Amino acid sequence: MSAHSPAQSKSDPFEAARRIRLICLDVDGVLTDGGLWIDDRGREFKRFDVRDGLGIRRWIEAGGEIAAVTGRPGAAVRHRLRELGVDRLATSSGDKVPAVEAVLAELGLEWSQVAMIGDDVPDLPVFARCGLSIAVADATPPVLAAATWTTTRPGGRGAVREAIERLLEAQHRRPGPTEAG
Ligand SMILES: [Mg+2]
Repeated sequence: MSAHSPAQSKSDPFEAARRIRLICLDVDGVLTDGGLWIDDRGREFKRFDVRDGLGIRRWIEAGGEIAAVTGRPGAAVRHRLRELGVDRLATSSGDKVPAVEAVLAELGLEWSQVAMIGDDVPDLPVFARCGLSIAVADATPPVLAAATWTTTRPGGRGAVREAIERLLEAQHRRPGPTEAG
């Protein structure tokens, strides 16, 4: 068991950020702006932000794990995730918690080592368990209220890049005197 429960870690976001090994990303509203273009054949089109791609690559290069957690894993999403090097796609049918737990079991990690980036109510059960909950700037009010961190950029407009840079910054900084040992 971890010495820090998620509740304790949330009172010390810096320490929580230093423990993160796995970033779980919601897709719609986080990697995209939440918009769906649907053509007359029912094909979906989504817009991703190229800046998020660079952030994700930096996280992976730094040795971090990353998984997309979504209930809508369409072809465009799969294609973009592959392009980004995100090889874990956890699909949920409503409840995202079991989807994340499967990734944790595969990687041998615990909840305190998870950061979740979300925008809407389906992300809240994961927020309640993970070590660091991050809301995008335009998340729904309950998600903003529950989050430990909130990005200044909205979903699909560089929020993931911003969150990852902040995580990497926390992890590369030396612990202060009270945090050592
Ligand atoms: Mg969403």
